[in-house]
Parts: sequence; structure tokens; C-alpha cells
Amino acid sequence: MDRLLTERIENNLDLLGLIGMKKAYATLTKEADKDSFSYPQYLDLLLQEEVACKQSHRFQLLLREAGFPYNKTLEGFDFSYQPNLDKKRINELFELDFALKRENVIFLGPPGVGKTHLAIALGIKACSKGIRTYFLTLDMLLKKMRQEPNQRFPRLRRYYQSPLMIIDELGYLPLNQEDSNLFFQFISHHYERHSLIITSNKGFKDWGQIFGDKVIASAILDRLLHHSHVINIKGSSYRLKDKLENFTEYKQTEKPEDLSRLSYTIREDELQPLEVKRPRGRPRKVKL
Ligand code: ADP
Ligand code: MG
Repeated sequence: MDRLLTERIENNLDLLGLIGMKKAYATLTKEADKDSFSYPQYLDLLLQEEVACKQSHRFQLLLREAGFPYNKTLEGFDFSYQPNLDKKRINELFELDFALKRENVIFLGPPGVGKTHLAIALGIKACSKGIRTYFLTLDMLLKKMRQEPNQRFPRLRRYYQSPLMIIDELGYLPLNQEDSNLFFQFISHHYERHSLIITSNKGFKDWGQIFGDKVIASAILDRLLHHSHVINIKGSSYRLKDKLENFTEYKQTEKPEDLSRLSYTIREDELQPLEVKRPRGRPRKVKL
């Protein structure tokens, strides 16, 4: 191709920010000559390259901004470890219709069953489809809300405007009244406007305890559950997978009655902060 012509094409593609076309056009032009593409065919292929390039660029940008703590994928989720989990339902969620319909997804279950894994994987999939997503733990969200109580403040605004927000770890710590009110305000804003993905280690009946107030808990649940997909993961912790396997091996060689203490289940009350009470006298400081 004429050198001047090539230079002009490259300059103009640069000026217009058409990086995908710039990368592809030399090869595509050769192929078009060789295989006698029609003009529309050639243009179509060039445009496809540009769209793919723009999509990949946006995906990278959204990923950087989302704040995911790890990279998790649906493919990396071992369904055989959670046989009670409905794989078809999870696969359907990954089609992301819920995000287009502004519905919520709530993952419930004890620690280590993959709630955060699936939430992140869904978020990453959403980013790949160009849906802006942010990931925050409840603790981080409340901290930000306390710092900037007005939702119009730039650093908070993005969490109010994002079509998809992931709020992880609801329930590990009880909230005081101010934080409960802030969270209610957040949920009310998002109701029927945007989608939320929430993970919690507590069943809904215990949400009154988390928010320290049954009325506010039911107002929050009322809005969250109106259009929602609740995924209750009832299996055992993947973090303890190898340990549990060791227990199983151990079980095979030892007397079963000695081993009941080894079966690992996390009780709800283990997750509550312990209140140390002394029968009489002044409370003693407890070193933890
Ligand atoms: P949770 O949020 O329910 O406490 P996580 O999603 O953080 O649990 O899971 C803990 C770890 O175990 C993570 O590294 C996660 O990727 C992994 N994990 C959990 N469940 C599975 C699974 N079924 N298949 C593969 N990895 C899993
Ligand atoms: Mg988690």
C-alpha cells in the first residue's frame, strides 16, 4: 500500500481513537485483497475489531474501578463440593438478566461456602458485559457513608449511581443505630433503581439482631426481597476442605464414637461477640 496513504490512515485512526481498527486494518486489507472481500464485508470486519477493542478496554477499566479483592470465576467454582446448590439457577444468574431487571441477589450461608466467590464472579461477568459494578464490604460502605453523609459527594456518588453494587459480609458485626439508619437509606435509594448483590452469614430471621431493631430490619428486608433471588448455600466450608478430608481419613481408621468432636460445624452463636458476665462486683477487664 502507498506509504503516504498508510500514514494518513494511521494518523486519522489515531485522531479518532480507533485503536482496534488501527491494529487490524493492515492484516485485514491483505486478507481482503487475497480473498476478494466485498466492501461491506471488509468494513464489517474492521468495525468488529474496533467494537471488540472498545469492549475489552471498558472491561479493564470497570475491573480496575470495581475494587474486587480477588479474581473469581464461575468456572473456578466447584459445584460438586456444594451438591445442594442448584447449578442451573446459578448459571441463570450469570446470564445477568437480574441486573437488567434491577433485581437483587442475596447469598446466604455459613462462612467459607463460596458466597463471596460467587458474588465476585457475578460482578466480574457484569463488568465484562459493560455493567459498572462496585464491590464493598458492609463495613467499608458504612465507613464511607459516615465520612460523606451526603450522597452527592463525589466519592460516594458512584455507589449510589452504579447499576450493580456488591455488599459483602452483612452480619458479621452488629450495627449501631446510626449505621443501621445509613444502611436503610442506602437500600431505599437502590430499591427498584439498581441491583444489589448481598452476602450474609445470617438467616433473615436474625437480621433484627444485626440491625439492633426489628422494625428497621424488616423495612430493609421488605425492599431487598421484593425483587430478589435468594441463594441459600447450606454446605460446609471450602476453606476447611482439606481439613475435613483429613478428618474423613482419620474417621476411617479410628473408632467412630471418639470422633464426633471432630465434625466441624460453625454454630450461629460462635459468630456473636461474646459477652463476659461476672455474677457480682465490678466487671473485670478481659484480655482477649
Ligand atoms: P464465604 O464468602 O461464603 O465465606 P468465600 O467465597 O470467601 O466464602 O470462599 C472461601 C474460599 O474458598 C475462597 O477462596 C473461594 O474461592 C473458595 N471456595 C469456596 N467455595 C468454593 C467452591 N465450591 N469451589 C471452589 N472454590 C470455593
Ligand atoms: Mg465472604
